Amino acid sequence: MTGYENCHLCPRNCGIDRTRNPGPCGGGSLPRLARAALHFWEEPCISGEGKDVPGSGTVFFSGCTLRCCFCQNFEISEENRGREVSEERLCEIFLQLQQQGAANLNLVTGTHYLPSILRALDIAGDRLQIPVAWNCGGYETIESVEALAGRVQIFMPDLKYYDSALSGRLSRAPDYFDRASRAIYRMIELAGPPVFDARGLLTSGVILRHLVLPGHRDDSLRLLDWIASNLPRDEFLLSLMSQYTPYRPLPYRELNRKLSSFEYNAVIDRALTLGLTHTYTQQRTAAKEEYTPPFDLTGI
Ligand code: SF4
Repeated sequence: MTGYENCHLCPRNCGIDRTRNPGPCGGGSLPRLARAALHFWEEPCISGEGKDVPGSGTVFFSGCTLRCCFCQNFEISEENRGREVSEERLCEIFLQLQQQGAANLNLVTGTHYLPSILRALDIAGDRLQIPVAWNCGGYETIESVEALAGRVQIFMPDLKYYDSALSGRLSRAPDYFDRASRAIYRMIELAGPPVFDARGLLTSGVILRHLVLPGHRDDSLRLLDWIASNLPRDEFLLSLMSQYTPYRPLPYRELNRKLSSFEYNAVIDRALTLGLTHTYTQQRTAAKEEYTPPFDLTGI
């Protein structure tokens, strides 16, 4: 795995020296964070809804290797809002979340800070007892995924697009599916099948997430066909999300509205038809802005 001086941490493969200038992901040479707090808006086996735990210990990293044009967290992914911290402070933040009773440590969009995260986890050592979840956009190199082996027990990758023209248009990543599908396959190999504790909280495994986009139902259906044909059944959980919310006007007309029930139900029906029964779905009321927490440096 490379470091920040010659950065190849994600498939963009910039090769730039981030100790001099930030990369196109916004990442410099110290981790930048926007929020570290208990968070409830994940799947119930992660946030502990109804399981007598106060939430998932969620660390939101600023910047992003993908920067999808419709990102609900654009204040941090694109505008890079946040504060830099040392690796020692990052470790303290992890331990403070554990002390608050977090069900797990949920690292959101940390790919571009992978070396610092690994060092912070090393500093924490055995003091960190809760499962660590890698919550990412799926756009990962195999090397980065393998660097997480033994440090992370849960992978929560998105699988956003099947079509390369679509991923090129919305995330400037025409190689998205090729990269993400290979990374996800490796995550499943590393994490193994889902394991839950007595409370029903996930302690290891993969939750593969897909946000259904308005106007792009067909791409979701093609993704499900690929998932059913290519990934080992029963060795991952699937989460089909309907929470898409237009946050700002976009040049793509279909993305300036919420998802319709017809579109979402068509995707759920296809998953069931394909036998993808280990699937989380969302209520249609999920498309609310409250899914986006305030990026106000809480806990940093
Ligand atoms: S992590 Fe950032 S700087 Fe490094 S390769 Fe990816 S986009 Fe480029």
